Amino acid sequence: VQLHHKILIGLVAGVVVGFFANVLDLVWLQRFLGQFEAIGTAWIRLITMIVVPLVVASLVVGTASLGDITKLGRIGGKTLAFYMSTTAIAVTIGLLFANIIKPGSGVDQATTDRLAEQFSGQAEVSMLLAEQKPSWIETLLNMIPRNPVQAAADLDLLPLIVFTVIFGAALTLVDKPKRDAVLMVFDGINDAAMVMIDWIMKLAPLAVFALISSIVAQFGFDLLTSLLLYSLVVVAGLLTHAFLTYGTIVRVLAGISPIRFFRQIPKAQLVAFSSSSSNATLPVSIETAQEQLGISKEVSSFVLPLGATINMDGTALYQAVAVMFIAQIYGIDLSIGDQLIVVLTATLASVGAAGVPSAGIITLIIVLNAVGLGQFVQSGIALILGVDRILDMIRTSVNVTGDLTCAAVIARSEGESLTPRPVDHKIEIAPIA
Ligand code: ASP
Repeated sequence: VQLHHKILIGLVAGVVVGFFANVLDLVWLQRFLGQFEAIGTAWIRLITMIVVPLVVASLVVGTASLGDITKLGRIGGKTLAFYMSTTAIAVTIGLLFANIIKPGSGVDQATTDRLAEQFSGQAEVSMLLAEQKPSWIETLLNMIPRNPVQAAADLDLLPLIVFTVIFGAALTLVDKPKRDAVLMVFDGINDAAMVMIDWIMKLAPLAVFALISSIVAQFGFDLLTSLLLYSLVVVAGLLTHAFLTYGTIVRVLAGISPIRFFRQIPKAQLVAFSSSSSNATLPVSIETAQEQLGISKEVSSFVLPLGATINMDGTALYQAVAVMFIAQIYGIDLSIGDQLIVVLTATLASVGAAGVPSAGIITLIIVLNAVGLGQFVQSGIALILGVDRILDMIRTSVNVTGDLTCAAVIARSEGESLTPRPVDHKIEIAPIA
């Protein structure tokens, strides 16, 4: 049995057990699953702890082996263009679905009032968090780390990437013996990190079970019925984007069969789904890109960490649907012009969202304000909070799929052949002479 099948079994078992605990109101089981969630949390911490060493090591090796710095600029430009345009497509898909199906027009007043009341406290917390978001100028300035160690300590990937890329580029100009020595060290760190991922992934099936069962056990299924149409529209949009947009792009721009592509990436998608965090998934997506998809270190170590931070198609699509839903509930007509503002701000807001659980709902507030729905922010967020965790899982999988799609396209455009090279990280302990 392959690992991703075992993870899938863990996931399905988690849904089933959690569902029974929830629906049959088995308090003891709910309590047990609540405690058991710690296993899942421990596991997320384990993979997250690899992010910094892996990103730094593989990015140093990647940049330094690019040979010339202009290539890096070219890859960077293509990556940004790709990320922005696919995100805009995602938002457009979300808007189309929301305009056609109108999920907000069928919800009755009693339901809205009940949801708004039940979640108003949590919504207030999100609003406070949104107020702390820095301005655009600050955001740009924050990309330059004052201290790379601090950025690493805060798991602040963007400034860390900026420092590491400059460092790797500088390294290419250093005397060959010294450069080789430094590269050798980082290459070794990179390999050791990959071995750690393999170890940690062995625990994935159990961890996924722990995470999913406790989420499902706590989930309000009665909420789902009132928000069913909204949730379905989000999910339908996400699936369309994942399979239609990415499938086509992978076929046309990366020249690989979409079926092959989707067969090679489920491990990363499942980890994204279970953790709701692009950042936590990063080590697994880097491994998937290099070993399953056969993408070089140069491309994957640059494109994927950048993607985990700024490329969130799933989040942007969800924000588009959420804005339309809230507008429809309050009977507000958003003109084409307003919807263009949604395309622009949701694309930018998804860039600003961090790759951590629930980040998308906080930046949604920016989009709501931008289209003049400011007065409905708190009640609107309260409306949709109940199903947000579940939607977060799906949109994070789409976010990660988008990053991998981009990596494949950029690799192909740089002339790579994309032949898988599964590595068996079995270490033979060499006797010390
Ligand atoms: N959880 C998402 C991610 O990490 C962000 C979000 O939409 O909340 O990609």
